[in-house]
Amino acid sequence: MSTQPYGRHALGLRPIINVSGTMTALGASIMVPEAIAAMAAIAPEFIEMHELHRLASAAIVRATGAEAGFVTASAAAGIVIAVAAAMTGTAHRAIEGLPLDTTGLKTRFVLQAGHDVNYGNSISQAVRMAGGAPVLVGSTSQVSPQDIEAAMDGSVAAGVFVVAHTTARHGMVGLGAFSAICHRHGVPVIVDAASEYDFRGFLAEGADLVIYSGHKFLGGPTSGIVAGSAGLIEACRGQNAGIGRAMKVGKESIVGLIAALDAWQGRDHAAIRAQERAALEMWQHCFAGIAGMDAAIVSDPTGNPLDRLEIRVHPESGTSARDMAMALASYDPPIMVRGHQVERGRFWLDPCNLHPGDAEQVTAALCALIRQGEPS
Ligand SMILES: *Cc1c(COP(=O)(O)O)cnc(C)c1O
Repeated sequence: MSTQPYGRHALGLRPIINVSGTMTALGASIMVPEAIAAMAAIAPEFIEMHELHRLASAAIVRATGAEAGFVTASAAAGIVIAVAAAMTGTAHRAIEGLPLDTTGLKTRFVLQAGHDVNYGNSISQAVRMAGGAPVLVGSTSQVSPQDIEAAMDGSVAAGVFVVAHTTARHGMVGLGAFSAICHRHGVPVIVDAASEYDFRGFLAEGADLVIYSGHKFLGGPTSGIVAGSAGLIEACRGQNAGIGRAMKVGKESIVGLIAALDAWQGRDHAAIRAQERAALEMWQHCFAGIAGMDAAIVSDPTGNPLDRLEIRVHPESGTSARDMAMALASYDPPIMVRGHQVERGRFWLDPCNLHPGDAEQVTAALCALIRQGEPS
């Protein structure tokens, strides 16, 4: 057990076994050692920030194939800054006027109703924070291309498209068609792909700016990435003299993110997947022959190369998904499951944030918990 000053133990914070995924409330992800070392190395140095931003842009270009890239304080900040950039371009007066003085600017942002997700705050609030006006089209279960078309009235600054497991799963217009409509009206497309591993596909489907999180799958410091067209990225950069100043990203986060991006390119993804697979199969084994519970390995709903164990708890089991999630959370250390659908009788175990030994502790807890309810 580490007793480093300011380590978790020294601070008196209890450990957590995270099988819920990459959650802000639990500290996001396990930062990769390359990012930690990079942040420590730059911490005592002076550098020219514009030069560091230039290096970061090059690293983002290498990873995404975009024309340019910009590092933000988080993906949430990246969305606000991208929205601001779509309104102001690089015009100083316009940048300084946000969010309230938008005289002469296009300020409407078209968003499909089923895409107004909440990741801590809502997409529509992110648009309003920059001074934009979200225009929700269609309903949460159905949007047609005509709905999007009808919103294009000459005052639209950008279309905003969200890729997330929390968007409506059906009835929305896909990115290719959404982009085609926007582009026909000369309107750029901003894609929130904060949790997506695909660094190239959204740009290929017509996105002009794509936003990723630095501290989710990448294992970087708290940060965000905006990748896209050179002109819009320049306009994002310009926001540092406007509303972006309140979302400043420091040298340590920029360098940490560059290191995490480089580490991602060099990571042995196949070996990590095999390790995750082994954990999922070990957990699944606990459920063999248990009445009233099913455990299946399922793929990620947005197509990330990541599987989870989905556990369905039926009434004849004598327990519920909610009770099982709560029981696991009351273990020492707490085992935090992916429990946003416990009311629907299911929860997931996510294997992508495990420390050595965690998978075995989850197995022991899970098997003991399930057997408790069984007649012996
Ligand atoms: C996580 C997430 C965000 C916020 O990302 P941060 O980098 O934590 O700010 C925004 N949008 C979606 C879809 C997300 O999944």
